[in-house]
Amino acid sequence: MAGRVRVRAAVLDAMLAQARAERPRECCGLLAGAQGVISEILPASNQLKSETEYFIPPQELIAALRSIRERRLAHLGIYHSHPRSENIPSHRDIQEANYPSCVYFIISPHAAARAIRAFEIRNGEAREVEIEAVK
Ligand SMILES: [Zn+2]
Repeated sequence: MAGRVRVRAAVLDAMLAQARAERPRECCGLLAGAQGVISEILPASNQLKSETEYFIPPQELIAALRSIRERRLAHLGIYHSHPRSENIPSHRDIQEANYPSCVYFIISPHAAARAIRAFEIRNGEAREVEIEAVK
């Protein structure tokens, strides 16, 4: 893993808690921060109410992006869970990754180890990055 992403520990805990609370459905949301550290989680609802895919309602997406902008933060990540499969990007996740500057986090609500993994997805290719938890 060449890259690395820094995330506040509280954000990692909140992602995992949401993934567990919403299983067996996929959960999703946005991540924001500053100076390369993800410090804020903006949970969203999964419009598809699906166990195998997610879609953030456009109005929620717009509101979350506006909230990030108004707080002078940067949109640094997107997360969702894989309750039914390993937490690596699906074919659809790669096809629909529209934010090349974001890190994509995938949460397994069941896994004992590596329950959260992070990937850069660019030009149809996913590359895992290391997660560094910070206070
Ligand atoms: Zn997925």
